[in-house]
Amino acid sequence: MMPENLCKINKIIVDPGVKDSPLAKRVKSRLPELEWEMVEEGGQVSMDHDRTVLYLKEYKGRFLRFCPGTKHYRCCGYRIIHIGENCPLNCSYCILKAYFKDRTLKVWANQEDLYRELEANFLGNPGRRFRVGTGEFADSLALESITGYSRDLVSFLKEYDNVCLELKSKIVDLSWMKRAGRSDRILPAWSLNAFDVVKTEERGVASLEERLMAARTCAGNGFRVCLHFDPIICYPEWEKGYAKTIEMIFDYVRPEEIAYFSLGSFRGMPELKAFIEKNWPDSDYIYNEFITGLDGKMRLLRPLRVNQFRFIADRLKRGGLERQLYFCMESDEVWQAVLGYTPRDLGGLQNHLLEQAFGEKA
Ligand code: SF4
Repeated sequence: MMPENLCKINKIIVDPGVKDSPLAKRVKSRLPELEWEMVEEGGQVSMDHDRTVLYLKEYKGRFLRFCPGTKHYRCCGYRIIHIGENCPLNCSYCILKAYFKDRTLKVWANQEDLYRELEANFLGNPGRRFRVGTGEFADSLALESITGYSRDLVSFLKEYDNVCLELKSKIVDLSWMKRAGRSDRILPAWSLNAFDVVKTEERGVASLEERLMAARTCAGNGFRVCLHFDPIICYPEWEKGYAKTIEMIFDYVRPEEIAYFSLGSFRGMPELKAFIEKNWPDSDYIYNEFITGLDGKMRLLRPLRVNQFRFIADRLKRGGLERQLYFCMESDEVWQAVLGYTPRDLGGLQNHLLEQAFGEKA
């Protein structure tokens, strides 16, 4: 399914160094009718563009990065394969809106440089396992129908037994699947939410049914999937909304088909609240009881978070999930209060999720 708003991309900007790259050629062949603008040598791209503009950039930074976690909370140790920034979808709570100052959709078109850096890391550390993903600074698949980036990446990763790639999305595009070398090293992942949140706060996305149907298709093809409730939103009747989604999850996938499942409460830098207030005046979940956490981000008061986590985790556990559950950026106290153990009891969160990703423990 192609998200409807992808049709709204109306301009491509390209750096001279990547104008003839395979990726640029593919984009051109898929969007032949669009206006193309070449950036002048050493020139800057305006920050004023919106998400209808796609910028194919020759990226000079690091492609393989650590997730920008914080030492104050338990971080999952995920490594980001940085393939671009921003997202054509439009969720009111999107943290990228406060993280990046501009809205242009950026894709790093110098894939050869990306591959060179990844190869140096993956071959240079053969004894180390890498749990990597592309869904941190962008949605992994939202531009797939135009760029084919994930298809290229899964193809490249066939050679690396020590790497497990998560493709996290809110849309459905399984075109990468036939390029995957082995199904146990790719983890298709979907962010889910309560029914009402999907309806009122997410735009341009696939429905919950479509996301879960895609998860079922992947499981049927031998892949394990990852699911995420992040951000969990506190709104009137949230219990009903999350219970309904959880019930549905187990109609589509079996617990053993899920590698891991994260729970993360709505949080963000203070600018995010101002952004939501201005752009989504009906999104009143931001007027809840928030505090500023140790990382400077606003987050729901701990008792409220724990209450939501308990409700959701209990239902997921009743469905058969246990070792798959983890919290994104929470303290030991919250782990203990909700699950009765801390990441240390699992051998450390990073190790635990590596084991889950690589399918070493059921
Ligand atoms: S899908 Fe993810 S990255 Fe895209 S707008 Fe929604 S929250 Fe942001």
